[in-house]
Amino acid sequence: MILRPKGTIDWFGNRAKMLKFVEKKLDEITNLFNFEYIETPVFEYFELFHRENENSDMVKKETYNFLDKSERKLTLKPEQTASICRAFIENKLYTEQDIKKFYYLAKNYRYERPQKGRYREFYQFGVEVFSNKHYLIDAQLIFLLDYIIKSFKLKNTKIHINSLGDNQDKKNYNNRVFEYFNEYKEDLCYDCNQRLKDNPLRILDCKLDNEKEFFKNCPTSIQTLSEESKQYFEKVINVLDKLGINYCIDNFLVRGIDYYNNIVFEARSSIEGFNNANVIGGGGRYDNLVKELDGPDIGGVGFAMGIERLIDVLLHNNEFINQIETDVYIIDTTNLDKHIALSKLLLDNNLKVDYNLENKKFQTLFKNALKSNPKYIIIIGDDEVLNNYYSIKNTKTMTQEKVLEKDLIRYLKGEYYVD
Ligand code: AMP
Repeated sequence: MILRPKGTIDWFGNRAKMLKFVEKKLDEITNLFNFEYIETPVFEYFELFHRENENSDMVKKETYNFLDKSERKLTLKPEQTASICRAFIENKLYTEQDIKKFYYLAKNYRYERPQKGRYREFYQFGVEVFSNKHYLIDAQLIFLLDYIIKSFKLKNTKIHINSLGDNQDKKNYNNRVFEYFNEYKEDLCYDCNQRLKDNPLRILDCKLDNEKEFFKNCPTSIQTLSEESKQYFEKVINVLDKLGINYCIDNFLVRGIDYYNNIVFEARSSIEGFNNANVIGGGGRYDNLVKELDGPDIGGVGFAMGIERLIDVLLHNNEFINQIETDVYIIDTTNLDKHIALSKLLLDNNLKVDYNLENKKFQTLFKNALKSNPKYIIIIGDDEVLNNYYSIKNTKTMTQEKVLEKDLIRYLKGEYYVD
């Protein structure tokens, strides 16, 4: 038997329903915030991601690269931001408006060690805003992330925020982190010894070393911020306070991708046993990426959420599961020729409908009907056919009423009540 590739998911059942539900809700929310949908190819040229300044593990170690038949070097997208920047530049979208706000839902590919909430193929929902740098844009994105958290009723989920400062601040911070950890070389794990050489800031993400005693006094990025970066950070924070957003300042947050500067943020749940899968989304500002990709000098801010992780949290919280329901399930215990016409009538009236295909014991049919999670079950039996009515069971109250065909649609829509 051929199995699915390691680290991938087959979507079916409740999780597939959740996927569609989450997608729809995120569509609605981003429309509310006036973002436009964008979609770019699944693969891009290798060079788009493998840039001189990008030393993250994601790009260095985890990309799926291949040559096509014409020997072009291509990469399956490990993330969407660089690809959207490329589309923004290539299609000159910056000529359309001063601020361009995009959202996406797309698959990413990273050759990671699969574990809970970490896959090799995974969905991300995300947003990218391109404009001149303005603290209100950063604040609006954090507000949007908070709005999503609240819309999905994610309990115990907090936004962590930090600032890495501008290019110079970030370089200074990198140097300070290098100097600090260089003193503890012997105590760092094997990977962090490598990170010390290539990219010291990544040490701050290490789940092994950040438990160690010497980690506690590591310098924070706030200590190396210029006055200007500090003020920018404060302005963002002030807006968040005014909006009543649930955040905390997290001095060790650096995020795993190198193009970020200034504001970085992450949404974290705190479900026991979820470990890293508690990080459901994150992002930040990237002032140099568009320019680095030969575009104009326009900054960007964005964040991405892991859809599999969001669904895991929702399933864990038992939230929204009952909302995925059928309006009506028809049980026909006669010769099964009534429900086709009836289902057409219901569909024409925008009601979601399902029905039985075989005649079985009523109890079995009823049990099967409940699996579709319908609001109502319409029962068609001999008496109903003979006397021209439907028996309708409300699955919430488990009460049953007789309704005539002429009143049926109004009854199902809550516009008619049986006396
Ligand atoms: P990143 O693009 O690495 O900044 O990640 C943004 C979000 O995507 C994370 O907070 C996760 O929720 C999700 N994510 C990142 N990598 C994976 C993965 N390998 N599998 C599933 N979700 C992921």
